[in-house]
Amino acid sequence: IISKLPQTGTTIFTVMSALANEVGAINLSQGFPDFDTPPRLVELVNTAMKNGHNQYAPMPGVMALREQIAQKTERLYGAVYNPETEITITAGGTQAIFTAITAVVNPNDEVIIFEPAFDCYAPAIKLAGGIVKSLELSPPDYRIPWDMVRRLINNKTRMIILNTPHNPTATILQQEDIDELSAIVKNQDILILSDEVYEHLIYDGETHHGMARYPELQKRSFIVASFGKPFHATGWKVGYCMAPAFLMQEFRKVHQFLVFSVNAPIQYAIAEYLKDENTYLSLPDFFQQKRDHFRKGLEQTRFELLPCAGTYFQSVTFNNITDEKDSDFALRLTKEFRVAAIPTSVFYTQGTDHHVLRFCFAKKQETLDKAVDRLIKL
Ligand code: GLN
Repeated sequence: IISKLPQTGTTIFTVMSALANEVGAINLSQGFPDFDTPPRLVELVNTAMKNGHNQYAPMPGVMALREQIAQKTERLYGAVYNPETEITITAGGTQAIFTAITAVVNPNDEVIIFEPAFDCYAPAIKLAGGIVKSLELSPPDYRIPWDMVRRLINNKTRMIILNTPHNPTATILQQEDIDELSAIVKNQDILILSDEVYEHLIYDGETHHGMARYPELQKRSFIVASFGKPFHATGWKVGYCMAPAFLMQEFRKVHQFLVFSVNAPIQYAIAEYLKDENTYLSLPDFFQQKRDHFRKGLEQTRFELLPCAGTYFQSVTFNNITDEKDSDFALRLTKEFRVAAIPTSVFYTQGTDHHVLRFCFAKKQETLDKAVDRLIKL
């Protein structure tokens, strides 16, 4: 066969988690919690199953859940989405991203991404026949060079993919970024795909500058969100996409034949759980404590900490420790020191010289402490 993705191997998340398991390392690589999903939420899933919600959900998702999402979005960001036509429940963020790209990117359309970029963006663009136009961001700030974005734009530019809070760099878009972006897309036929799966994981009282806050951006955006991250249930693979009706209509044409619909009882459970806004408004405090505790621990090591404004990832540079490539170092760290991390160079299509590792701190305090004890030995 002729590979459609000749450059693509197995995703780093699978590679590192498998290695961590194989050698018995503390797995701070792939992002998922090692603590429990909220018991009340699990109970609600049980109840939904007992109540017989075990057959196909409607193709766009359970209405009660779409309604809760619409209410939450309006309350938090002021945007009004019609649950009937503008919200679809997906099998996690990744499916939503793939679906949105497949729905609107035509062969030879150009899509701008910022690297390091989450690893599913570029393959999805390529499978749609699109052209990846990547701009490299650099530590420690990873700011988007908007003048370079401007220079990349031409009449083939179909989409810009944004991610805030950003995986893997833990940065967030600022008001200046929104202003620049708004000026760039104004009067242009450019769509936005905004990956906001960490929207509730923002620290130090900062604001989530999601597309739903800005009518000029919102009207051209697919916004992708997740329930796995906020509700400590990454294995459930339930998320959603919001977009204006003319975009959502195209999205659903793909969604219906990709998955048709997603897990029904979990949708009923989350619809109930979302009624209490504290379930997500308490998250910044919860994770900020972990961030601060982990950062304090890492300060005792020879790693240098990069800023962390959001997500549950902490990146570090390691120039004081070794001049190995990050991917080599990550393997050695896992095998010899038994702590697994993600080497961030895999998130650049052309590779990079930046020596940065990403650790996930969505872990019990004892797990983080144990990892730090091992990292101190470096
Ligand atoms: N979002 C998770 C991370 O960045 C991984 C998702 C996945 O494994 N596909 O670690």
